[in-house]
This record gives sequence, C-alpha cells and structure tokens, in this order.
Amino acid sequence: MPVMTTPEVLVVGGGPGGSAAAHWLADLGHEVMLVEKKEYPREKTCGDGLTPRSIRQLLDMGFDFDVAEFHHCRGLRAYSGDLMLELDWPDHPEFPSWGGVIRRADLDQQVARLAEKQGAVIRDHTAAAPIIEGGRLSGITLTSDGETETIHPRVVIVADGSLSRFGRALGGSRDKALPYGLAARAYYSSPRSKDPYIESQLDLRDAAGTSVPGYGWVFPLGDGVVNVGVGVLSTFHRWKETNTNILMDALVSSAPDHWEISPDTALSKPRGGKLPMSMSVGPKVGANWLLVGDAAGAINPFNGEGIAYAYETGRIAARHVHNALAADDLGLLHGYQAEIDDTYGLYFRTSRAFVRAIGRPGVMKVLTGTGLRSKTLMEWTLRVMANLLRPDEIHPAEVAYRALERIVQIGPEP
Ligand SMILES: Cc1cc2nc3c(=O)[nH]c(=O)nc-3n(C[C@H](O)[C@H](O)[C@H](O)COP(=O)(O)OP(=O)(O)OC[C@H]3O[C@@H](n4cnc5c(N)ncnc54)[C@H](O)[C@@H]3O)c2cc1C
Repeated sequence: MPVMTTPEVLVVGGGPGGSAAAHWLADLGHEVMLVEKKEYPREKTCGDGLTPRSIRQLLDMGFDFDVAEFHHCRGLRAYSGDLMLELDWPDHPEFPSWGGVIRRADLDQQVARLAEKQGAVIRDHTAAAPIIEGGRLSGITLTSDGETETIHPRVVIVADGSLSRFGRALGGSRDKALPYGLAARAYYSSPRSKDPYIESQLDLRDAAGTSVPGYGWVFPLGDGVVNVGVGVLSTFHRWKETNTNILMDALVSSAPDHWEISPDTALSKPRGGKLPMSMSVGPKVGANWLLVGDAAGAINPFNGEGIAYAYETGRIAARHVHNALAADDLGLLHGYQAEIDDTYGLYFRTSRAFVRAIGRPGVMKVLTGTGLRSKTLMEWTLRVMANLLRPDEIHPAEVAYRALERIVQIGPEP
C-alpha cells in the first residue's frame, strides 16, 4: 500500500458524488484524497443514462465525450402502452440539449481520473471507516489488503452511496415519511443499440396487470447492448408485494419489437438497488463532515436520476468546504445545507407531492393516457421531470410549474 499522509480533506467513495467533490476541491487548491473501496473499473448497478444535467457537470469537469464507450442521445421516446411520443431534450441556456448512455464502470473510472488530473490523490481498493469519540468524528481508518492505518483529515466528505454505512455511523438517517425507490436493471443484446433516443415505458404493470408508479426503460449503449430496467416508488399502494424481477420479465416481454429483446438475448441477470430520494437523508452536515449524492438521498423522485445530483451536491459541498477552510471556521460547513435547501427544496417538495399522487390507484393511468395524447403536455412534463425548466423566460410550462410550486408552498407537506 502506498504511504498515506493525512490530507486536508478526505472523500469517502469514488462514484459521481465523491469524484466531483474531489475534483472541485483540488481545483480550489486543496489537498484532497479520495478513497474507493472497490477497484476501478468498478461496476455499479445503474441504468447508465445521463440527462443534460449530468452532461453539463461532465463538460465542466472536462470529460471527453469522444470515446467509444459513450453513446450520444438526442431525447426520450416515451411509451404508455402503445401510445408513443419522441421528445428531444429541450433548449436551455444552462444545459446542453443532448444526453447519453455509458456503463458506470467506464464513466466513474474516467471521472475519477479527471479528479486525479486536477490534483486529487485517488486510492481505490481502500475502505474507510469512521472513528467516533465523544459523538464526534475524530479520525478515519483506511484499510487496504489487510493493512490498516489511521488518518485525521480536517474535513470528510461522505459519498458512500445509497447504503451509506459511513454516513449512518455519523448519524445520517433517512426520513421514513418520504418516498424512496427500488430499481433493477439487466443488459440485453439488441440490434437497435445505436438508437438516438433513450426509451421509457410509463405504463408499468405488475404481474396482476395493475398499473405501478414508476417506469421501465431501455437505454441503448451503442455497442450491440441495451440496459433494460424498472424503477418503482414506495408510494405504490401495493408496494410490499412489489417484485422488480417480475416487473422486469413483464417489461421485456412487452417491450416494442424494434429492440428485439427476449429472455434469450439477456446478457446478465437483473441486479437491483435502492434509490434514496428527495434529499431525504439528514443531517447532511456535522462538525467536520458533509453527505453528498445518494448518501444524502439526492435522487430526483420524478425520474430516478441520481448521477447529476451526485455531481452537483459534490460540487456544492466542495465550495462550502473551501469557504470553511479558507476562513478557518468549520461552522461555515452548514452553508452547504442552506444551499441545498435553496437549490432543491421547492423542486423536491413539488416532486414528492407528485409521486404521492401517482401512488394512488388509477392516477398514473390517467396521467400517462392523457399526457401522451398531448405533445405540449409531454414536453412540459419531460422538462419538469428532468428539472430542466428555464428560469429566465415566461413560458406556459414555467407558469404552470410556478403555480404548482405555489400550491405546494402554501399547502401542507404531503
Ligand atoms: C437500478 C438503478 C438504476 C439507476 N439508473 C440511473 C440512471 O440511469 N441515471 C441516473 O442518473 N441515476 C440512476 N440511478 C441512480 C444512480 O446510480 C445513483 O444516484 C448514483 O450512483 C449516486 O452516486 P454516488 O456517488 O452518490 O454513489 P455511488 O455511485 O453508489 O458511489 C458510492 C461509492 O462509494 C464506495 N464506498 C462505499 N463505502 C465505502 C467505504 N467505506 N470506503 C470507501 N469507498 C466506499 C462504493 O464502492 C461506491 O463506489 C440508478 C440506480 C439504480 C439502483
């Protein structure tokens, strides 16, 4: 194991949240070390889909999209049963109008390398565990190949994903009153893997034919393979009986013929994971630590997207750590929670109201049935769901969204 000196800032976890935090801290001139318990390239169960929000963060970090592993996509093809609409990603002053699909093993390794290029020290195959004394994080043990050592960084950014053992040991816990999601994915071979659209099936049904809140997806990887998956929300009235593997089977057998997928073209078994959403984990800041990404519950409940929010929260955390270190006042770390509330509070409250509504029987069916008959309504829905509304223009979508925001603002927390 290489000799490790104590860095000023330690980042725990080398997914999108951790790599972004390390990248931006190094960019701000700090001595930062990122530890990742697995070895790159490491697999992560995911749909591998990137919206323009993720692309924007990757562009800012200097990601090279001109690589064979990255498949460009221009928009979303949405199905509800047999109804179909193709929608391009919207024009937006802050985001590109394209997205893409890339396996997480490739994406996360390349973003960690960008952080390293910026000056961060990256140690994979190294697990971190907190040392807590008198209720305070007093040090970290790093273990690699059976060797353990203790370090004492000034600040720790916790980006250890949805299970977040490290974050939970510090007191981070999910607000059980808020919804969460479950998702599963598997890879299939498909001759349509160069499709320029990611695809979703909004009328997801369980084995009994009941409409389920959530959606199924087929995301093309461009190299003969597609990522197929389902995501379900815990607001579903029959949540306890939900089995994502059965939903996957149903999705594969009902997927549009153009994909040519079937149980025979499966390349892997389904793998699942939890989606902590709506910023539901807190507290996000302690005396000398912050939670980012899935560890903070940062997934968007409208669409299950978490990569963009992990990049964004990692970047915001880096800025507040910088402010606190520059002023030699760790109390300033609490500015992170305030900025998270300002940036996402209202949007995520609105989305929580929405996901609760679609958990009720019949509501999802009505929404997808009516919605897909109207392109304008669907374009608006896509922009709301992907959090891509333009703040600077008056447009029916913005007006309607602001109205919904106001209703949510004055109404009780659903
Ligand atoms: C089935 C499924 C499909 C999804 N599809 C999409 C999608 O298409 N698009 C999208 O935007 N989002 C998707 N998501 C959500 C997305 O995967 C997550 O939101 C995203 O990975 C969060 O990034 P993160 O950096 O917070 O955590 P992670 O990516 O989980 O990274 C955490 C890292 O921390 C490491 N780690 C954990 N503990 C320690 C420790 N003690 N020491 C050192 N390292 C540690 C882990 O090995 C891991 O590499 C999906 C999720 C699931 C489950």
